[in-house]
Amino acid sequence: MSKRYPAFLVFAFLVSAVLVPLVYAQNSKTEPDGDRPAVQSSDGSSEDSSTKTSELRSSAEIFAEYQQKLENLASKCDERGMTLEAKVTRSLIYKKQPYFFDVSLLSSKPLEAKLPSDATKEQQSWYAALRRLREEYSNETFAVAERLGARKRGYEIVACVLQTLYINPDHKRARQFMGFSLYEGEWRSQWEIRRIEKGYVDDPQFGWLLKDQVEEYRKGKRFYRNQWITREEEEKKIVASASGWRIETEHFSILSRVSLERGVEIGRYLESYYDAWIRLFYPFVANENQWTARLYSNDAIVSKRHQVILYRNRAEYVRELKKHDPNAVQSVGGYFPSLRCIFVYEPDPKSVDDAFDLMPMLAHEATHQLFNECNIPNSARGKSDYSKLARYANFWAVEGIAITAETFTLDRAKNKAAMGGFKGVFRIEDALTSLFVDNEYIPLERFIGMSRTEFQAYEDLNLLYSQAAGLAFFFMFYNDGAYCNAFVRYLYGVYQGTDTPALLVKLTGKSFKQLDEEYKTFMKEIYEQVRQDGERRSPRPEKNAVNVKEAR
Ligand SMILES: [Zn+2]
Repeated sequence: MSKRYPAFLVFAFLVSAVLVPLVYAQNSKTEPDGDRPAVQSSDGSSEDSSTKTSELRSSAEIFAEYQQKLENLASKCDERGMTLEAKVTRSLIYKKQPYFFDVSLLSSKPLEAKLPSDATKEQQSWYAALRRLREEYSNETFAVAERLGARKRGYEIVACVLQTLYINPDHKRARQFMGFSLYEGEWRSQWEIRRIEKGYVDDPQFGWLLKDQVEEYRKGKRFYRNQWITREEEEKKIVASASGWRIETEHFSILSRVSLERGVEIGRYLESYYDAWIRLFYPFVANENQWTARLYSNDAIVSKRHQVILYRNRAEYVRELKKHDPNAVQSVGGYFPSLRCIFVYEPDPKSVDDAFDLMPMLAHEATHQLFNECNIPNSARGKSDYSKLARYANFWAVEGIAITAETFTLDRAKNKAAMGGFKGVFRIEDALTSLFVDNEYIPLERFIGMSRTEFQAYEDLNLLYSQAAGLAFFFMFYNDGAYCNAFVRYLYGVYQGTDTPALLVKLTGKSFKQLDEEYKTFMKEIYEQVRQDGERRSPRPEKNAVNVKEAR
């Protein structure tokens, strides 16, 4: 086995991927017109695809050719017995993982890996060829984005930019488009740069601290109300007060009553989730014109910070929450739209009431929060007016997508993140059981017809949540993602407040009955796979089925 390369080189190549993104068909300005027939003929959608294919195909073609060139290069390495080089090259080829979105994070460190000084001529020429491929094909992809700029095709531009970064994570203009610039040798957002320029550093344990305070913090000192005290003294004071440790990240403001370190940890997790969310749902953050403008400007898209409070334990959570919600005693956490805030507590692993993991729950609630607080253009709901959300129908999708977010997994050491899957996802497994064991299924027309109030007042919430999970999973992954764009546009309509009960039928071009059938066929395949694998059912939080007991 060759030891010629330092581990980080191989590693850097293996982890540099971002998702080859969803591409949103046409735009989201669709008026979900209730007076048109529910099933519109294919004219609208076929026009969609024909007008966009010429340009889409070109970025897809570039990508396909790039993949082929990588394979060719890897084969040449094989011929020359350069096994490791072949492996590194092949690791860059996109491998689709069925039922998952790859939402891997961008590294803050540029690749810029150099070969060891004793690398052979052959190795040097392989490496040069690899770099050339990445540069050439990323530049070409970005050029497609620029061409689309003239026509203000903002969403397709984002897709091209993400493809550019997949090929070459250090593409300067693509990074700039996403809000990063190279600062002191690392890719940083403008917010981070401003912090650094004010003298802060991002300490792994304590988060953003003034540089000259870090040493004292490591020694157990804390700077509290303009004076240095011990960690224990600070904890005592904070626990006794009504406040907590305030942790500001780029997009979240967290009040932690547990500890500074836990707040920092949660902040990093939420920022990573935000990073994934924005790449999957970029139309929710800015419209086509705004995205297009990013080609020509460095100004970041700024939004208000999203608020999160973490209580020390269940008792404290219930005590505080009761002030806002008399039913708090039954809940384990929730997003409160009227307060624009997520309330959660640190679960006690020894308590049966706390049979849930905090991080997936945060991803779930953050999904409600991000969708509700994003600036959807022309919203008919008014600014984040939750009372108008899913007023007549379609509430299931709000929960469906939040439950999907619970599957968000993160491997920070490898910059890897993914969302999706069904193995070990207890909501999906519950949906399978309901469908094929208990024969319980609410036909789609009826299910979709449920408003927010109707949904939340339903007796068997477990059935609703698991069916919502199953259906969201279906609409995202059925037939290689055939309905994925339709589903995202549907969500857009729901959050925009322009949805009707017929919206999903209109966007997919299928009747409720057809969708019912397709769902069952799809889930049957999943069911067989689960059975064949002999998978044990995932441990299911029995007592407080997570998120069924969401506060609202
Ligand atoms: Zn929820």
